[in-house]
Amino acid sequence: MRVLVITGAGISAESGIPTFRGKDGYWRKLDPASLATPEAFARNPGLVWEWYRERRAGIRKAEPNAAHEAIVRLANGARDFLLVTQNVDDLHTRARWNGKQLREDHLVQIHGDIFVTRCSRCDRKEHEDELATASPSSGGQEPERELPRCLDCGALMRPGVVWFGEQLDLANIHKVEDFLARGDCDAVLVIGTTAMFGYIGDWAVRGAGDSGQLFEINPETTPLSDVATECVRERAAVALPGLVERILARSA
Ligand code: NAD
Ligand code: ZN
Repeated sequence: MRVLVITGAGISAESGIPTFRGKDGYWRKLDPASLATPEAFARNPGLVWEWYRERRAGIRKAEPNAAHEAIVRLANGARDFLLVTQNVDDLHTRARWNGKQLREDHLVQIHGDIFVTRCSRCDRKEHEDELATASPSSGGQEPERELPRCLDCGALMRPGVVWFGEQLDLANIHKVEDFLARGDCDAVLVIGTTAMFGYIGDWAVRGAGDSGQLFEINPETTPLSDVATECVRERAAVALPGLVERILARSA
């Protein structure tokens, strides 16, 4: 069985990580869609860094939920598997099922990793744990001189995520395209995403091909709902364990 899973912020909602568009999405009355941009960082890097530091702290405290775990189970039951997540959190990586975790080559973080810090000018990249960043601020905005700077070129470091209006990483696109080129999937699951980015809908539809099942798991309708073979209108952590069981049973 070949399986493609695509996830968005909704799958982490029940782990306590707010989606951008949900009721807790705003941060200090600011719209995340306007903070997660290169323009916001150029205008006010201290403010953007503060937001990311708070989000990192929230994610560190969060635990994977039953939906993240069910996906690990599905990955282990499939012959060929890929998970494309738009999430920058690390809950897919930390999730376990029966003592197993996702294989590294099973996961593409198409919008980057919030725990990576990279240079805004050169190629330097560090994982947060290795980096000597200024300590998290206590509320006020951080002066620019206290923000992390590149040890190679001196430019400001920035979160290693893909902001609105930025290009996706080519190596990541290739991983997805290589997987799709190997053939149609038996099942494609699109979980907790508004699927507002064209490439997300495109990968889902192409993954299912002519004969694959396309499942949408989302309490609300999205542009993909019309083309899905089955819409599960439930929260991911409620729906996924049973759905994965059903898909695995059918393929057995
Ligand atoms: P979004 O915030 O636009 O939409 C979330 C979707 O999840 C909605 O369609 C909503 O109906 C659905 N949803 C809410 N609760 C759910 C639940 N319990 N179960 C299933 N579905 C649920 O998120 P998006 O489409 O992923 O795109 C926004 C961008 O924001 C992405 O690029 C992503 O990188 C980023 N983001 C990431 C995180 C994270 O890493 N956890 C959190 C917020 C935003
Ligand atoms: Zn640099």
